Amino acid sequence: MARTYRAVITYKELAERIQESTGIRTRTLLHNWIGTVLSKVVREAHRRGDPQLTALVVRTDDGMVGEGYKEVLEVAGEPPAESVPEREQHAARARLECYRRFGAALPADGGVPALAPLYQAAVERRRVRPESPPRICPRCSMQLPSTGACDSCDQR
Ligand SMILES: [Zn+2]
Repeated sequence: MARTYRAVITYKELAERIQESTGIRTRTLLHNWIGTVLSKVVREAHRRGDPQLTALVVRTDDGMVGEGYKEVLEVAGEPPAESVPEREQHAARARLECYRRFGAALPADGGVPALAPLYQAAVERRRVRPESPPRICPRCSMQLPSTGACDSCDQR
């Protein structure tokens, strides 16, 4: 995962892989055990001075690293993220560090932090369309109100 630039994995896929690689199958709900596993990964990565691999793990439904990511900040001694977008940006930067450290083929510019595709798409949907530039009255150069009729010229 970390060897492919911009690749991410969902919690669900990760859980599947862990079970395949360990041969331990569990019927326990994902939420009940994946956090514990990732928590160990976070601490181990910190101990080794490695970038945080858990940044690669995102939720299936929205592409966010989610709440559990706060632990990454905690072990690093960083203040908690002030907002969800900030947290997700932090994870995006951590992912880039992972791709770099673990030998992903990077673009010529070295790559840029990127949100997981699903979350990126949501951000773009939510993004307010850029406001059209204010209309200016051709006669007096005052900004026109939404009615399009110039207040100052009409008063003359
Ligand atoms: Zn005018």
